Amino acid sequence: MTPPDFVVDNVDNLPLTTRFAPSPTGLLHRGHALSAVLAWQLARQTGGRFIVRIEDIDTTRCRPEFEAAILEDLAWLGLDWDGPLWRQSERGALYATALDRLVGMGVAYPCFCTRADIAAAASAPHGPEGAVYPGTCRHLSASQRAERLASERPAWRLDVAAALAISGPLTWHDRWAGLQQAQPLAGGDFVVARRDIGTAYALAVVVDDAAQGVTDVVRGVDLFEATHGQRLLQALLGLPEPRYHHHGLVLGSDGKRLAKRDKGETLTMLRAAGTDPARLRAELLDWCQHPH
Ligand code: GLU
Repeated sequence: MTPPDFVVDNVDNLPLTTRFAPSPTGLLHRGHALSAVLAWQLARQTGGRFIVRIEDIDTTRCRPEFEAAILEDLAWLGLDWDGPLWRQSERGALYATALDRLVGMGVAYPCFCTRADIAAAASAPHGPEGAVYPGTCRHLSASQRAERLASERPAWRLDVAAALAISGPLTWHDRWAGLQQAQPLAGGDFVVARRDIGTAYALAVVVDDAAQGVTDVVRGVDLFEATHGQRLLQALLGLPEPRYHHHGLVLGSDGKRLAKRDKGETLTMLRAAGTDPARLRAELLDWCQHPH
């Protein structure tokens, strides 16, 4: 079987497993559709598996009606998936075990800073650019930590320098950008468990990609930088390293990056407007081969 031309050259473990991992915090737009279509096509063209995982750990923002709309959009796009649908909200115990392991290795520390303290949503997959946690709570003494833990629920952060001292230098591979030296230090000590929900995107995503045997992660280039930290977590937790396919971001009619808040650009709207899904799929794939 010949892999399609966007499969990385070093494919040695066919069949592939790809995934689409939306967060049901809003409706999908054409950028999400591109991720889904690319991942689906990669699996289907290689006789591999395509799985859908609902990334709904953030119970404060996820809504069942968005999940329902996402599944309808995927069906409308003509994308079928293999195996059961996974929901991260049902897998908290696994993420807690992974966190315990990091704590046991001495590479995760409790952080008591409030959002206002750090003015940075470092726990979100798409945190504001340049918002690097200054490491305040890394410097707390054991007794200061114990005292605060007795009365406060913390977030947990990865001590990236300590983690790198264990893992040593790491690389990862992107289909378009090629071999990358992992540089997680640039992102600072990122959150591996949020105070409010007990886990965080970075940790849940590596645990589940491994648990689901994902060989190829297809997603937007807005998550490119987050991959450095995810690669480090994989090394620490002894998880396999997937290949990455970070595709360019589809822009809206105003030339700006699409966001879930752009209500007029959602797949649900396109569907209601009578868009031909086969044509949309073809347009997205064509755009991806020749991004403007
Ligand atoms: N759930 C993330 C999002 O919707 C994507 C995570 C990923 O593909 O790694 O932005």
